[in-house]
Parts: sequence; C-alpha cells; structure tokens
Amino acid sequence: MFGSSRGVEIKTPDQLRQMRLAGLVVARAIAATTAEVRPGVSTRDLDAVAAEVIRTAGAEPSFLDYGAEDGVGGFAGVTCLSVNDEIVHGVPGDRVLVEGDVLSVDCGAVMNGWHGDSAVTVFVGEPDPALARLSEATRAAMWRGIAAARLDGHISDISTAVESYVRGLTPTYGIVEEYVGHGIGSAMHQPPDVPNTTPRGGLRPLGRMGRGVRIVPGLALAVEPMLTAGSPENHVLDDDWTVVTDDGRPACHWEHTITVTPTGVWVLTAEDGGEEMLGSLGVPFGPLS
Ligand code: MG
Ligand code: MG
Repeated sequence: MFGSSRGVEIKTPDQLRQMRLAGLVVARAIAATTAEVRPGVSTRDLDAVAAEVIRTAGAEPSFLDYGAEDGVGGFAGVTCLSVNDEIVHGVPGDRVLVEGDVLSVDCGAVMNGWHGDSAVTVFVGEPDPALARLSEATRAAMWRGIAAARLDGHISDISTAVESYVRGLTPTYGIVEEYVGHGIGSAMHQPPDVPNTTPRGGLRPLGRMGRGVRIVPGLALAVEPMLTAGSPENHVLDDDWTVVTDDGRPACHWEHTITVTPTGVWVLTAEDGGEEMLGSLGVPFGPLS
C-alpha cells in the first residue's frame, strides 16, 4: 500500500500513551532475553524468557500464532530468533547457540489492544569485528531513519535516510528489500510500508506526490532495516518462516516503533524514549506527557 493513505490508522494521544506501555514491555522483554544469551543456551529457552516478561506485565505476545489460519498453525514463538545467515523470522526451538553466533531478537507485545514491535542484534561471546561493524551499521541506519521522520515529511524520507547512510559505508553491505517496516497500532502490521530503500520507478507504485504517505501526528511506524554482509538476496526455508541469505553470509536486524508528536520524535520501544540517540543526532525528542 505504499503511496496510499488509505488504511493508515491515526492514534489519539491517549492511544499513543497506551502504545508506549506496550513498547516498554517489549523493551524489557528484549533486555531480559538478551541478558541470557550465552554459549549453550537454546533459542527455546530464550523465547521463554521473553514470554515470562510479557505475561508478567499483563501483556500478550503478538508473534505467537501469528498467521494462523484454519488448520494451519501460526508462528511458534514469542520472539523471532534469527541466527547467523537467518535474516528474520527465525523460529525458536532446539538450536543451541555457540560462541561467535550473531543473533537477532525480534519481539512484539500487545497491551490493552495496542502493539509494540522492536528488534536488536547481539552476539554470543566475543563478536567477530567485521560482524560487529555490520550490526553497528544496521543500528545506525535505523537511527538515521528514525531521525529523518518529521511532521509533514514523508515515509520516503525515512527510506532515503536509511539507504543513503548504508550506501555511504565501506565496506558495502546488502539492504534486504523484500521485508520492510510498517505502520503499527491496533494491529502489528498496518499500512503504510516503510521500505529501507528509496522507492524507484517501476518497483513500487508511487503516491500522488511520489513520496509516499505523509507523516502526521498519530501515525506510528516500525522502522527496521535488515543488512547483510554479502548479497541481500534471500529465500524462505522449508519451515515457511525463516528467511535466510542465499549466499549463507550473516545478517543483522534492528527495529524500533516510533511516533512523531508536535514536539519531536518519540521512540515507543526504547527504554528512554529515544532521548539519548535523538539528542546525539540533533533531533527534537517529543514524548507525550
Ligand atoms: Mg519486529
Ligand atoms: Mg516489525
């Protein structure tokens, strides 16, 4: 739906405050989960940590059973745990982490009907320096995208900020294009799409202004770049969920849920609301009181 404002959910300030509560639950679930990452832990055990935090907070995990339809089971986890060449949507299970693995932890929760969605990439033991740079590039690209969001701007401002930052880096990294950020609110995935590359003619239909949906108060977005060490070409495994790189090289994924208020950007899934990073990027921090 890139380029159309149809279906874009505009939240009231009170609803955004509800989303902040969900966002904080997600932040704490991810922090608790990553604190348990070490050689010998299984992805199933890590998933249980996130589940406990979410349920204790009085929220519900939004990934569990995601996509379930008549007779077909949905996602079998509270988190997506994607290891090494797995880009996104890794299913928690028997896999035991080993020293040197790179792990992305993606988590969503719904509280009082409002969703939060966030992801981080962490390492098992000491990271390979090149992999640490890949993760840092992904995290920085996410923040550049977040920092580019402003009222009366467009979704494509975020996409362009992410892409131009990554394209300016050495070494070069792949940007996954098939999976994108999204609107979020009373459902986890809503219009509009938030691509990590600038939409080009012929690839995606452009809106009236050619720049996508306008950023207005009450819009909430998940900004989530996925970068690869090699080619961004990818495919889905036979489990119908796990997305892996075609060349087997590693990938990183970072994500935050954000909104833009009349006073600045508010990062709903960051413990500090994004204050520190936004400050370092010279962007007004705009929490609702
Ligand atoms: Mg996510
Ligand atoms: Mg998301």
